[in-house]
Amino acid sequence: MKTALFPGSFDPITKGHEDIILRALPLFDKIIVGVGTNTAKKYLFTSEQRTAWLKETFSNQPKIEIMQYEGLTVNFCKKINAQYILRGLRNPIDYNYESNIALMNKMLDNQIETIFLLTSPELMAINSTIVRDIIINKGDAGKFVPEAIQKNFNT
Ligand code: ADP
Repeated sequence: MKTALFPGSFDPITKGHEDIILRALPLFDKIIVGVGTNTAKKYLFTSEQRTAWLKETFSNQPKIEIMQYEGLTVNFCKKINAQYILRGLRNPIDYNYESNIALMNKMLDNQIETIFLLTSPELMAINSTIVRDIIINKGDAGKFVPEAIQKNFNT
């Protein structure tokens, strides 16, 4: 069984994340969305809230499972039997950051392959940090998040 882990903060999930996950779906038997719960990291939303929005977004997708995790991503992959890590790439900044992580993960565990999908061009500018700023400043963030959860973010 081909299982991929899509790790991230999803603070909150955006249309960019949703698009990568849905486009990767035909490539795998199962995609586990791993919600990072790093105690040293400051999130805007609790891991319960971030998880709930992911569950709502993918409620009609039986191949997608949402789990919370902490610690090393490769260790979590082993625990859930994921042979692949899925990530998205928007631009050279993502590439530099993501390729370093992928290479280090490869050195930590040679059995796990990181698979990258390029952003859909119309979603290239969507970024959780800016979405959070819009939410904090009471702007209309609804258009940047998956349709299923838009009602929580419209002004
Ligand atoms: P982190 O959890 O590292 O802060 P993010 O939540 O920003 O990461 O994103 C998780 C993954 O989703 C990363 O691989 C990132 O490149 C990808 N991603 C985020 N937004 C988009 C987008 N608009 N298009 C494609 N990939 C995206």
